Amino acid sequence: MPTGPVHLYVPGPTNVPDAVRRAMNVPQQDHRAPDFPDLTLPLFADLKKVFANETGRVFMYPSSGTGAWEAAISNTLNRGDRVLMSRFGQFSHLWADMAQRLGLDVICVDREWGEGVPLADYARHLSEDPTIRGVFACHNETATGVTSDIAGVRQVMDDAGSDALLYVDAVSSLASIPFEQEAWGVDLAVTGSQKGLMMPAGMSMLGVSAKALEAHKSSRMERCYFSFEDMLKTNDAGYFPYTPSTPMLHGLRASLDLLFAEGLPQVFARHHRLAEGVRRGVDALGLPLCALEPKWYSDTVTAIRTPESVDAAEVCRIGYYRYRTSFGAGLSKVAGKVFRIGHLGDLNEVMCLAALASAEMSLADAGAKVELGAGVAAAQNYYRTALETSTDVPGRATTSPQ
Ligand SMILES: *Cc1c(COP(=O)(O)O)cnc(C)c1O
Repeated sequence: MPTGPVHLYVPGPTNVPDAVRRAMNVPQQDHRAPDFPDLTLPLFADLKKVFANETGRVFMYPSSGTGAWEAAISNTLNRGDRVLMSRFGQFSHLWADMAQRLGLDVICVDREWGEGVPLADYARHLSEDPTIRGVFACHNETATGVTSDIAGVRQVMDDAGSDALLYVDAVSSLASIPFEQEAWGVDLAVTGSQKGLMMPAGMSMLGVSAKALEAHKSSRMERCYFSFEDMLKTNDAGYFPYTPSTPMLHGLRASLDLLFAEGLPQVFARHHRLAEGVRRGVDALGLPLCALEPKWYSDTVTAIRTPESVDAAEVCRIGYYRYRTSFGAGLSKVAGKVFRIGHLGDLNEVMCLAALASAEMSLADAGAKVELGAGVAAAQNYYRTALETSTDVPGRATTSPQ
């Protein structure tokens, strides 16, 4: 049995940078102390920058992302409200399931797993049915590696003259790929701490538009722990209606500092580069992606279809036990057919090469006919070129080595 670190390539939880881990190692403190807002008020302000939310606000909840899904719904809708959703992967499925269980009247458009938000269907439903109160979209379907066009959703809503609220799951996209809450007219944007924000699971953040805050006032769905009302009474002064996890708040500070030091545009560019290298590697191995069209390729997670005769769950098991690598398993409908390489958060090119190398060995051991090194080489070639043009090497000779 090999020893040493386990390499984490699940698309959440992601690697926690040392700076974030150390920042969380703090003594407990009084969350009602007079200087506590010195920590919290800048967090609210900086999270708004990450959501690109200027005129609304951001709430922080002590829950995983699923809690903020519920907060978004229960604070802004009424039982029986008609909402438009789509389902093409495990996460879009789960949010639709929650909406049904909370008593919404859900129009759910089912698409093949590997497709994204169906804009034409949304356009049709919205033009036919002016009673739709909420439109839901999963920005990045983590189960299939599919990113959807949220600006496009806003466009079809506007074209249909819909005044519904727009709810977006940005859990595996925010702080990794471009997200523009204000520009895209997203009313409720959900995220969690353990993906692009590089923290442990246990905190969710909800970006809320001014329009959604208004809708909150007339929404009558039962809510208590997640109520905006209680948050609004305390947040502006820098406090919470209940005991926050202070180590998580310090971790968030460190995470935001890292993101801003790198620069959000640079963070997005890095994720695109890492993903592109992984995709080229997978392509060189002759394996198809779960995502069915390039316009849907996700820059945070790549879901790979294994050949018919190869059990993708076996690839994950071999990767874990033999090569100390955690890949994302295929979930639900694509269990056994798909495995996933998460490439979001705190990672770089060489780590993606390691993921490909480990995937090649695991695939070969599970019976797939792959040429060892082919995927790694394709990614290496891409990374070399991409970094050669974007990175200065201080002190190098004037002639560049080839
Ligand atoms: C991880 C994730 C969630 C939230 O899951 P939690 O386990 O509750 O944090 C929701 N949606 C997507 C797309 C995700 O990737």
